[in-house]
Amino acid sequence: MNKNDIFIIHGTDYKDMTLRLLTEAGLAEQIKDRGRHIALKPNLLGTMRAEDGATTHPQLVCGAIEYLQSHGFTHISIMEGSWVGERTSRSFEALGYTDISKKYGIPLIDLQKDEGVSCDAKGMKLSVCRKALETDFLINMPVVKGHCQTHITCALKNNKGLIPNSEKRRFHTMGLHKPIAHLSTVVRNDFILVDNICGDLDFEEGGNPVYMNRIWAARDPVLCDAFVCDCLGLPVDEVPYIRMAERLGTGCADTSKAHLVFLNESTDTEYMEITGPRRSSPLPRRVQKLAGYTAPKDSCSACYGSLIHALHRLSEAGKLHQGLPPVCIGQGYKGQTGEIGVGSCTSCFKNSLRGCPPKAIDMVKFLEENWL
Ligand code: SF4
Repeated sequence: MNKNDIFIIHGTDYKDMTLRLLTEAGLAEQIKDRGRHIALKPNLLGTMRAEDGATTHPQLVCGAIEYLQSHGFTHISIMEGSWVGERTSRSFEALGYTDISKKYGIPLIDLQKDEGVSCDAKGMKLSVCRKALETDFLINMPVVKGHCQTHITCALKNNKGLIPNSEKRRFHTMGLHKPIAHLSTVVRNDFILVDNICGDLDFEEGGNPVYMNRIWAARDPVLCDAFVCDCLGLPVDEVPYIRMAERLGTGCADTSKAHLVFLNESTDTEYMEITGPRRSSPLPRRVQKLAGYTAPKDSCSACYGSLIHALHRLSEAGKLHQGLPPVCIGQGYKGQTGEIGVGSCTSCFKNSLRGCPPKAIDMVKFLEENWL
C-alpha cells in the first residue's frame, strides 16, 4: 500500500470487512518484524456508544487483532486516553474493551495514567504520553465525524488521546488547530484504520449518527483528513489544522493526488431509508429534518449519508428553505426520469450528478448550481 492510497470497503459485517481490508492493504508486510510492539488507538473519548456516532466500533478492533494474531504478531495493545472529564477505564469497560482484552489476551493501556514526556514538535513544545512514544507501530483508528469546533474530526485529531489530560486542556487554550498540527510531527501514525460507519453529523460526542457503512485504510493522516472533508462536503481550507500539518511535512492535503481503491461496491440500503421495512429505529431528529429534503428509493448508505452531509452544509449556510423539490437518490430511480437527483442511478433525470456514490463536496456544488 502506497502513502497516497486510500482503500475503502462497504458493508455491514464490520469485523469481516476489517479482516479483508487489512489483507488487501498488506498491513503485515508494512509492519514486517513480528517482535514489534503494535498499539491500536481507537477513539474512545467517553462512554458514548459507537452506534450513536461517537466512538470506534469494537468490531474493527476485534478484526484488527484477529488479523494481527493470525499473522504471528503477539506484542499488541490497545491504548487510549479519554477526554478530560471521563476516566479511560470507564470507557474501556462501558464500550466492551475490557471484554475484548480478556478474549484476545491483549493489554489495555490507560494513557491517563501514563507520564508525559516533553517533545520538540517542530518548534512547539508538547507533552506526549511516554507509552505512545515507545510504541513501534501505531494503528490510528479514528471515527469520521463532524465536530462543533474544528468542523471535522478524524486521524489528526484522534492523536489528542495520546497526550496527558493537562496537555489536552492546554490545546484548547491554544485554539486546537496549531497544536493538533504540531502533534502530528511527533506521534506515530503508521497506519490508519478509519471507522466511517456512522459518525455524528456535527458533534464528536454523538447523538445524530449518519450511516455510511464504510471502513477505510490509509497511511497519510493529512490526506486521510483532507478526504474526510470531501466526504463531509467541506472545503479543506475550513479545517486549518490540515494545511498546517501539511506545511509541517506530515503529509499531503491534495485529494486529487489520492489513489482511491474501492474493494467492493456500495450496495447496502439497510439503515438510511426512511420508509424501508428493515429500519428498526427512527432517524435521529436532526438527520430526519435534513432527510425531509430528499426522496430516497433503495439508496445505498454511503450515497445517502453523503447527501445528508451535503444538505447539512447547505443548511449551515442558511440556503435550505421550504418548497424545494425533493432530491431523488437511490437504485429505485434507475432508468426513470425526474427533475433532480444525485448518484448515477438518477442519470436519466433532467439534472443529475454522476458518481457511485458521489462525494458530498461535489453534491454541495451541484445542488447550489442546479437546485437552490
Ligand atoms: S449511485 Fe446508486 S448504486 Fe451508486 S451508491 Fe448511489 S444509490 Fe448506490
